[in-house]
Amino acid sequence: MTSQIKYFVLFSILFASPLYAQDWSEEKSPHFIVHHYKDRSFANQIKKASEKYYKEIAREIGFSRHSNFWTWDNRCHIYLFPNKETYIQSTKQPEWSAGAADYTNRSIYSYKGSKSFLTALLPHELTHLIFRDFVGFTGQIPLWLDEGLAQYEEKEKLLDLRKQVKEVVEAEKQIPLIQLMQLDVRGSKDTALVALFYAQSSMLVGYLIEEFGPDKFTHFCRQLRDEKGVEEALTFAYPGKFRTIEELEEAWVDYVQSTF
Ligand SMILES: [Zn+2]
Repeated sequence: MTSQIKYFVLFSILFASPLYAQDWSEEKSPHFIVHHYKDRSFANQIKKASEKYYKEIAREIGFSRHSNFWTWDNRCHIYLFPNKETYIQSTKQPEWSAGAADYTNRSIYSYKGSKSFLTALLPHELTHLIFRDFVGFTGQIPLWLDEGLAQYEEKEKLLDLRKQVKEVVEAEKQIPLIQLMQLDVRGSKDTALVALFYAQSSMLVGYLIEEFGPDKFTHFCRQLRDEKGVEEALTFAYPGKFRTIEELEEAWVDYVQSTF
């Protein structure tokens, strides 16, 4: 999911309107402020789930020690619009969008009744925000890593993704990793390719985390943040394991075939 909002006009629309301004409320927790429109119960549910995801995601990807500054004025903002219509109008997102994130303002937007928000979009977008806090915007962070990680944290889908990737690997129809790592599917109309890109990327991230642990994964991300190429970063973070993308692919294919 790449419905990132780059430039945002929400505030001029939302808070300039007297109707909206007086009816919005906030629910606060240590790392989140949930803004809602007369819907305290849904907002509290989101607030609770967000804190849980925040801890789990940061721990699993090894960033716990680095990402503990989402507090006080740096809390993450979540805006819950009263319905899909006002959400689409205010955020200028496409009709199909169920939610979106604004990385630079550490904010997430969705609406009441958005079905996939709590279990899919929220952990996905939170992962992007936590990851960006750690790696920043200057290093060469490839799309497979950014989206693969966010997809991997949508735990509900993992079982299906594992099955899908295993089938593809057994039929030798996977995207070669050397291509996967160059691929930018944003804007692609080839839905099968996009789906495979997300599935494979998440299983590759899963392999690195599950087999070698969060510390090495953090180390790998740090190398990329510091502008090393993927192969150099792999050699640094996983010494003796794989020196090239081909070696990584070989090990990953073995893992998919023997584990899933
Ligand atoms: Zn995404």
